[in-house]
Amino acid sequence: MNNKLHKNVQDFLAKPLPHHIGGLARMSSTEKVINPSSGSVLAEVAMGGAAEIELAVAAAEKVFPAWSALPPKDRALLLHRFADALEKHSEELAQLESLDVGKAITAAEGFDIPFGIQCLRYFADFSTRAQYSAPLEIKDMEARVWRVPYGVCGFIFPWNFPFTLMCWGVAPALAAGNTVVIKPSEVTPLTTLYAAQIAVEAGLPPGVFNVVVGNGSSAGAALASHPRVKRMSFTGSPEVGRKIGEACGRNLVPCKLELGGKGAAVVFEDVDVDSVATQLAGAITLNTGQVCCTATRWMIHEKIYDRFVSKATEVLKQTKIGPGMNRETQMGPLVSEAQRKRVLGYIERGKEGGARAILNGGMPSLPDAANGFYVQPALLEGSDDNVCCREEIFGPCAFLLRFKDEEAAISQVNKLHYGLANSVWSANLQRANRVAERMIAGNSWINAHNIFAYGLPYGGVNLSGTGGGVNSPDTFHDYLRPQTIARPLSE
Ligand code: NAD
Repeated sequence: MNNKLHKNVQDFLAKPLPHHIGGLARMSSTEKVINPSSGSVLAEVAMGGAAEIELAVAAAEKVFPAWSALPPKDRALLLHRFADALEKHSEELAQLESLDVGKAITAAEGFDIPFGIQCLRYFADFSTRAQYSAPLEIKDMEARVWRVPYGVCGFIFPWNFPFTLMCWGVAPALAAGNTVVIKPSEVTPLTTLYAAQIAVEAGLPPGVFNVVVGNGSSAGAALASHPRVKRMSFTGSPEVGRKIGEACGRNLVPCKLELGGKGAAVVFEDVDVDSVATQLAGAITLNTGQVCCTATRWMIHEKIYDRFVSKATEVLKQTKIGPGMNRETQMGPLVSEAQRKRVLGYIERGKEGGARAILNGGMPSLPDAANGFYVQPALLEGSDDNVCCREEIFGPCAFLLRFKDEEAAISQVNKLHYGLANSVWSANLQRANRVAERMIAGNSWINAHNIFAYGLPYGGVNLSGTGGGVNSPDTFHDYLRPQTIARPLSE
């Protein structure tokens, strides 16, 4: 059954959507945003460039002295009010996220929106307990580290979890007293624009939270290379991450890069095979496989390989594919026609390169949603140098490998240069912990995949990122610059 669209969502989508700069709506030329579930036009959105970024940076700069001077508890109160207002509008936000990304409405309601909002509350509370002046015990000296916000922080986000990632990014920066300029993905900008409207309603001072929509090569590049942005954060592909790093490097601006992945799941012979196969099938269909950290390389102990494959195949075949807004949908479409071409292209190249398709993927027949960007889950097996085993596909496609011993499995995991997240599955927790320690990545999960909590650091290494990650006390401190204050004590 399709969800009925909230009246506020209908009204929001009825008019061209402006940027939000200095608390004011600002229009520029527009482009259409497509509903991936139907292929039809969903909204018309302003597309900005360097001029809008300049205005947004200036607005954020102007309010920075007042925002950063607020006592942390007053800022935290305003961020909690923002969270309250977002919660009040969570039904609309979930519908917009489902329409824009194509993701299952039940996932948007159950995870994306509530978990994103919780991030604002976590960092708001953290900021009231943080130590801004830390004494240093140094002989013959009175010294301390004084921590102060940077100023204007720039954020560029991808299209797969627009609202959650936006909250992960900006919450610690705002709570620490910085002001922000956000460039959401031009493919899925709707919830970020809706949140900007809510920020004004919730009483965030104008200029604290600015949103400019635009293409990466115009608005994105202008933000990343802006000389008055004091700190930059980028979430997206390694290819674009390199460009952001270069632009920030030229200005000597510190930069956080949260990039792609090719996560492995190492499954030992002592697990409940049906349960793990079901969970990994769920991980590869989650958000239609468009999840940076999900398990895409399934390394299965040879003793359970056939049973595992048979169960995973059964579960994947039963996955209900359909429009994001349909309540029965477990897996919506891919985000765009370009993404569908990419995913189908990878599977073809993989097969040409010798991979065997246990499940072929391909396009499903959905008469009621024929123009949406749907694909079916694919399951491939073959050699670990196959392109589908080496590169990030970003779709519902898993690559199976069998292993005999622990050492071989670990070296296979570490063969790739990605380093975002892997999991190990075993009833033997000593072994699981040993393997978890040796898999090179920002995150090693045991008997689960895709684990998130505030207070649990999340980030990547190597091709998957640099700069500290998100979601932890360290992230908060990343948004405060340290300044030492010292005085020699004379006799
Ligand atoms: P992308 O790198 O193509 O685009 C990300 C953002 O960068 C978009 O807003 C885009 O407009 C902008 N951009 C593009 N070119 C730019 C340029 N030259 N200068 C400045 N900005 C530019 O990524 P995508 O296709 O939107 O998202 C998918 C990628 O994101 C995958 O690799 C995925 O793994 C990664 N991702 C990583 C995480 C994480 O936490 N590590 C989370 C989600 C997604």
